Amino acid sequence: MFDTATVTGCDRLSPQFVRLELSAEAFRKPAWVPGAKLQLRPRRGSLSLRTYTPMNWDAGRGVTELIAYTHGTGPAAQWFERVTEGQTCEVFGPRRSIDLRAATGPVLFIGDESSVALACALHAVADDVTYVFEARDPTALTGVLAHWGIAERVMVVAKSPDRADLLRQARRDAAPAPYTVVVTGDAATVHAVRRDSRGWERSPRRVMGKAYWAEGRTGLD
Ligand SMILES: Cc1cc2nc3c(=O)[nH]c(=O)nc-3n(C[C@H](O)[C@H](O)[C@H](O)COP(=O)(O)OP(=O)(O)OC[C@H]3O[C@@H](n4cnc5c(N)ncnc54)[C@H](O)[C@@H]3O)c2cc1C
Repeated sequence: MFDTATVTGCDRLSPQFVRLELSAEAFRKPAWVPGAKLQLRPRRGSLSLRTYTPMNWDAGRGVTELIAYTHGTGPAAQWFERVTEGQTCEVFGPRRSIDLRAATGPVLFIGDESSVALACALHAVADDVTYVFEARDPTALTGVLAHWGIAERVMVVAKSPDRADLLRQARRDAAPAPYTVVVTGDAATVHAVRRDSRGWERSPRRVMGKAYWAEGRTGLD
């Protein structure tokens, strides 16, 4: 069921963001679509999996890259904090999640720290994107996004329980032409955006949403 991948690159972009390059013979199969997910087993012998988003996929070389946000002390956060080049890990996928190929026309992307790799995958395939992020540390996230070339039409607001700033900014950035919303990250935010966007003056023609994590729950998906 699992494939073995080798860590062939590891950069600490900031204290809480890690970029990992994974290589595997199994990655040579062309099964990836932008937005797909890859699951990994951070603890050998345990059945629990954690899900990450490949930001790109090079089937010719059998290589992909992930960007992990290491919050807290969950198994994946601990694994990403300690991982070094040369180590191996067990992975499952890629498998379908959000299919970014369906996000045609203008896109309003809404996410958080866990959505950086998805934003990078979108950045590579779509021109007309406005990004709105919520973050516990907006300055750190802005720096990480800029590192990946996401520096224009980006607003990072401080995360707040009522999400008022995030929703206000998203409403303001809604395109005049028919547009798609892609929203990932905190389950409560995905829900709030879906509900709130129904009342926007310029409402989206489609909302593609996926909860990446939820308060008090582990290994969502
Ligand atoms: C389809 C999909 C794609 C994903 N892609 C990415 C990705 O590319 N990069 C990435 O960093 N994450 C991504 N995630 C989110 C990641 O899988 C979760 O954050 C996961 O829970 C991390 O596992 P853990 O073992 O560190 O923490 P867990 O053991 O799962 O959780 C421990 C505690 O941390 C909380 N928690 C989990 N995630 C977060 C968070 N982001 N912020 C604050 N608190 C949190 C939980 O509520 C729980 O209380 C994705 C999730 C899905 C479903």
